[in-house]
Amino acid sequence: MTYMWINAKDDVTKWFWTLVILSVTPPVFSNTALLIIDVQNCFLPGGSLAVTNGDHVIPVINDIRRKYENQISLTVLSQDWHCQDHVSFASQHAGKQPLETITLDYDRNGHLCSNKTTCQVEYSLNQTLWPDHCVINSTGAEFGSRLDHKTDDVIVRKGYHCEIDSYSAFFDNGGFTKTELEDILNAHNITTVIVTGLALDFCVYYTSKDAKKLGFDVYMIKDASRPVIQQNVPTVIKDLESLGVHVIDSSSLVNFISSSSAATTCLTMSYIYISLLLTVLYLGI
Ligand SMILES: [Zn+2]
Repeated sequence: MTYMWINAKDDVTKWFWTLVILSVTPPVFSNTALLIIDVQNCFLPGGSLAVTNGDHVIPVINDIRRKYENQISLTVLSQDWHCQDHVSFASQHAGKQPLETITLDYDRNGHLCSNKTTCQVEYSLNQTLWPDHCVINSTGAEFGSRLDHKTDDVIVRKGYHCEIDSYSAFFDNGGFTKTELEDILNAHNITTVIVTGLALDFCVYYTSKDAKKLGFDVYMIKDASRPVIQQNVPTVIKDLESLGVHVIDSSSLVNFISSSSAATTCLTMSYIYISLLLTVLYLGI
């Protein structure tokens, strides 16, 4: 194409190829993803593991999507997706109640040790027990009906390994397996993630923490999230902030998105100026 452009004899042909070259160079600089964690019926009012005021996060998240549509280049919804007999369900442990904590033992390959006499225990994890929730293909596992969707939204499922829980949308609780989330973000050149959803003190917390560890710039939006246990919130926020996660309200997002937009505008203008300069030079205007 360059050969044809350089050898074009008349101005019309030169302008034609110039426009073609400019149009095929993608001026895409946005690098922010919105993560919507587990906004599913099971965690909403009426659900089996309803988070108090969990539905209040939906208009806040929808508003972020609408307001920053041009700045958010990727939206990912995580979906808790459990086997019917998932190890995190209190119903699977005789005499145990939801919110009790037990210890689960795993071998070196991350398999649950059900028989300690024949199994070599390598890892022990504390597991909070939950009511049955978000079972694969159940209504409870569906996303809240008032949550805005787009056809290019990406869905990442987690917690479908029956023997281990997965609070983070990146890894299971033992770090034995990872979801596809990190690869998806990298494939889209994402450097900044905005984390929202349910619940603040579990899945939002661990997802934010892992995102930061993986090197992303992380914004956890307080008013777009709600906790299972209110008393956990100060500790969780303190921990996230100590790791470098920005814990902010959605109203403050404008300050950060604006500065990000300013950088985007700067890059876009540089692209335009360089393109025009090259065009002028080649056309000999
Ligand atoms: Zn779960």
